[in-house]
Amino acid sequence: MSNAALAWLRRDLRLDDNAALGRALARSKQVFCVFVFDTEILDALESRADRRVDFIWRSLGELRERLREAGGDLIVLHGRAREELPHLAVALGVDEVVAAEDYEPAALARDAEVAERLRASGIGFTAVKDTVVFAKGELLTQAGRPFTVFTPYRNAWLKLAGEAELAPRLDAALLGRLARPPMATRLPELRELGFAETDLAAAGIRPGERGARETLDDFLGRIDGYHAQRDFPALDATSGLAIHNRFGTISIRRLVRMARSRRTTGTDFWLAELIWRDFFFQVLHHHPRAAQQSFRAEFARIEWPNDARLFAAWKEGRTGYPIVDAAMRQLNATGNMHNRLRMVVASFLTKDLLVDWRWGERHFAATLNDFDLAANNGNWQWAASTGCDAQPYFRIFNPVAQSERFDAQGEYIRRWVPELAGVPAKFIHAPWRLPPAEQAACGCIIGRDYPAPVVDHAVQRERALALYKKVRP
Ligand SMILES: Cc1cc2nc3c(=O)[nH]c(=O)nc-3n(C[C@H](O)[C@H](O)[C@H](O)COP(=O)(O)OP(=O)(O)OC[C@H]3O[C@@H](n4cnc5c(N)ncnc54)[C@H](O)[C@@H]3O)c2cc1C
Repeated sequence: MSNAALAWLRRDLRLDDNAALGRALARSKQVFCVFVFDTEILDALESRADRRVDFIWRSLGELRERLREAGGDLIVLHGRAREELPHLAVALGVDEVVAAEDYEPAALARDAEVAERLRASGIGFTAVKDTVVFAKGELLTQAGRPFTVFTPYRNAWLKLAGEAELAPRLDAALLGRLARPPMATRLPELRELGFAETDLAAAGIRPGERGARETLDDFLGRIDGYHAQRDFPALDATSGLAIHNRFGTISIRRLVRMARSRRTTGTDFWLAELIWRDFFFQVLHHHPRAAQQSFRAEFARIEWPNDARLFAAWKEGRTGYPIVDAAMRQLNATGNMHNRLRMVVASFLTKDLLVDWRWGERHFAATLNDFDLAANNGNWQWAASTGCDAQPYFRIFNPVAQSERFDAQGEYIRRWVPELAGVPAKFIHAPWRLPPAEQAACGCIIGRDYPAPVVDHAVQRERALALYKKVRP
């Protein structure tokens, strides 16, 4: 047992079942807690009104209260974590720093540097698993290799995820070991960090542990219908928990335990999504180069035409394909997009507009409230057919057919593309097919009130196939 430890909270902004804090409490007589607003991350953000920063800031406010109620406190620093953290550890005189393990290449490099600096001062650094149920090489094929196909991974995951794996990692009886630091602590105002408050509430996001529990409670009223309703963007059928999973305001083990205890078709389908999440984390761990490059080497040679004009039309939601435009406009307005539509717009960008998936990935990284490198990269590569267990390159989503199937009445489209509000459901998926007289009658002239399609899907489909075939005949 050490005298004092520092729990470095990063993407685990909660008290409940917090593995890093739990480990520190179990092994040290005194435990301090810190969060660092890392300028290396903040400086790279495009917008100074970033919902993710606002979410973290508000979540920290709640976490600090909870830690104080339990007899501890939260030290909040603003600077380069690789320098601030070792300085603090020395100033507090701790023996060990404990943090939740990260799987992103940049975070791993930072942690290695922090660990080195701590070691030079005689302080240990321990990273513990918290973000996922299974990490790194814990789940391997029978041949001892990393899984690259989801279904066998899911089956192995379900077999191995026993009670022990899902047990809470923090013993609340040890919270008395939380300590107040000798220095004054305060949570800087957002504007002191260089950021503005955002419309989190209007975007339907409730921050913090409390927000996560409320979001989960709401979802429990819908979860049993998840399998039947999750693909329809006009319905509010999914959990909305991704931002909480991103910042750890809820424990993944708690979610899995809940899903497994109900055993309905809805919860089984939902659990599979949580397993996809684990899957992409282990892909990133085993193949960190996929963060920059095509997972499948042959597709790294695709010569993307990358038309900047088409990319701008996609980003701004004016491609003339209503389902794509509605989804992109929702993303721009709220930072959120339904999973089905993420697949549709990603396929459209790569296989209709012939733009490199990394351009789209970067745009999502800048705008998605729930942006997570492992999931974003894995899913973009899935949609672009360049990834691990991706959709085959010759199966190309037809944006009109997807729209007819998943937004049959155009309810979702009308919400985000008001120009099309008067267009009948039969034509709303491909309004350019509406005869000119009817366009005038419903108040939407194509090319004037709403863009004509920027590309022809049938033509682009053949061009996409040719691009892929050229590198993989
Ligand atoms: C191109 C593309 C990019 C994406 N980028 C991200 C991203 O940056 N961050 C992110 O969390 N998800 C991403 N996803 C996955 C998915 O779209 C979101 O997790 C989901 O829409 C979040 O809504 P929800 O919380 O209501 O999910 P629910 O349907 O309620 O699912 C429950 C949880 O499972 C996880 N999950 C669900 N689907 C996936 C998936 N396909 N891959 C990995 N985890 C999943 C999320 O943590 C989610 O909260 C992306 C999907 C695509 C097609």
